Amino acid sequence: MKKITIIVPFLNEEEVLGQLYQRLEQLSQTCSSYQFEYLFVNDGSEDQSVSIILALQEKDSRITLLDLSRNFGKEVAMLAGFDYAKGDAAVVIDADLQQPPELIQEMILWWEQGYSDVYAVRKNRKGETFLKKLLSSSYYKILQKTTRTTIYPHAGDFRLLDRKAINALKELREHERYTKGLYGWIGYRKKELFYDADERAGGATKWRLSSLANLAMNGITSYTTLPLRVSAMIGAVVSVVGFIYMMIVLVQTLLLGASVSGYPSLMIGILFLGGLQLISLGIIGEYLGRVFNETKKRPLYFVEEYYEGQTRDDKRSSGES
Ligand code: UDP
Ligand code: MG
Repeated sequence: MKKITIIVPFLNEEEVLGQLYQRLEQLSQTCSSYQFEYLFVNDGSEDQSVSIILALQEKDSRITLLDLSRNFGKEVAMLAGFDYAKGDAAVVIDADLQQPPELIQEMILWWEQGYSDVYAVRKNRKGETFLKKLLSSSYYKILQKTTRTTIYPHAGDFRLLDRKAINALKELREHERYTKGLYGWIGYRKKELFYDADERAGGATKWRLSSLANLAMNGITSYTTLPLRVSAMIGAVVSVVGFIYMMIVLVQTLLLGASVSGYPSLMIGILFLGGLQLISLGIIGEYLGRVFNETKKRPLYFVEEYYEGQTRDDKRSSGES
C-alpha cells in the first residue's frame, strides 16, 4: 500500500485543528486504498494547539507531531515536514481549511498518472483585501519578467509532491526560503488543478504585512540578480549624460569664461545622484545580507520534541498486528 503524508504546518490554530482532522479523516476513508500519515508541524504555537494534537494522537496513531523549538516561519516549518515525511508522496495543506482536503483525492489520481508535482491554484481570493490582491498580482508579474525560473503565480503550497520532488526540496537548504519559487526551480512533471478557496474556518491569518514584504523580498533576491544589473545600467547612463554635460560646461567656460550661476543644476545633480547611489547601495545590501545569512550555515530549525505516530507498516514490522 502506498503511503501519503499530509504535512500541516501550524501556528496557533487551536480553533481549526479539530475540524481539519475530521475532514482529513473523511478523506482517508474515501481513499481507503492508500495509507495516510498526518504530520503536524508545530511552528511555535503558544495556544492549546499542541495539546489538541496530542489528544488526537491518543485516538489515532497515524498522527505524528513535530514540535519545533520556536516559530521559524511557514517556509521552514514545511521543510521540517519534508524532512520527517515518510510517505511515497506528501501533501502540504494549511491548517485553516481554506484549502479543501477533498481535492487531495484528485491530486492522488494525477500522481498515479505520473505527475510528480500536482499543485492547486486558487480560482478566487475570497476574504482577501483589494490591496493584498493588487500587490500580489503585480508582484508576480514583475518577478516573472525578471527571472528565468518559471514562477507559477496563484499556486500556493497546497500540492502533492512525489518522493523525488520531496528529496529534491530537502537538498535546497537555503535560509531565506521562498518555497514557491523552489517548486519551479526543481522542475519535474507538474499538473495544475483549480479550487475555490474558502474563508478561514476560524482564527486569524498569521501573516503580517511585514512578513509578506519580507517573503516578497526573498523571492526577488533568490530568483534574480536583475536589480543589481539595473542599478549598474542606470549608473552607466547617468555617467554618460554627466560626461556630455561636463563637455558642454567645459566648452562654455573656455569660450565665455566662468560664472557663478548654475546653483539649481548643481543641487539637482547632487541630490539626484545621491539618491541613486543610496538606492544602489541598498540593493547591494539586500543581496549581501542574504549572503551573510547563508554563510553562517546554521541549521534551519531545531526540534523540541518528536511525537512519532505509527502507521500500519510500522506496526507490522514491530511485530504487532
Ligand atoms: N503558519 C506557520 N507559521 C507561520 C505562519 C503561518 O506554520 O509563521 C501556518 C498557519 O498556521 C497556516 C498556514 O501556515 O496553517 C497558512 O497561514 P495563514 O492561513 O495564516 O496564511 P494565509 O492563508 O492568510 O496566507
Ligand atoms: Mg490561510
